[in-house]
Amino acid sequence: MPPTCIFCKIAAGEAPATVLYQDELAIAFRDIHPVAQTHVLVIPRRHIESVNAVEAGDESLLGHLIVVARKIAEMEGIAAGGYRLLVNTGPNAGQVVYHIHLHVIGGQRLRHMQG
Ligand code: 5GP
Ligand code: ZN
Repeated sequence: MPPTCIFCKIAAGEAPATVLYQDELAIAFRDIHPVAQTHVLVIPRRHIESVNAVEAGDESLLGHLIVVARKIAEMEGIAAGGYRLLVNTGPNAGQVVYHIHLHVIGGQRLRHMQG
């Protein structure tokens, strides 16, 4: 674990976060600067920098993140209304935290995707 990674620290319970769900592989917590009524981050406990660092063998872990995102959507009551899953990758996408994470964004009508 890189000593400076804030998401590793949250996963280890060494930094505060509003945790909604956790299991042996993943943890989900509220984004500190929400862009919508519901804004939750789903991360693997294992440090993976970004989609660019994903390897063969990571498929089940990454699929698990989507299963957790679905649980979060149900817990937050936004499953039927709809929501957005987003993974920013690299500078052009504005990735800020280099520990791979799935944004679960919803609870309101979202603007259509923009480039
Ligand atoms: P990205 O890297 O995909 O651009 O987004 C990183 C996200 O992590 C941002 O939405 C930001 O608000 C959130 N974030 C950054 N640091 C923290 C933190 O310490 N705690 C929590 N809960 N969220 C954070
Ligand atoms: Zn990390």
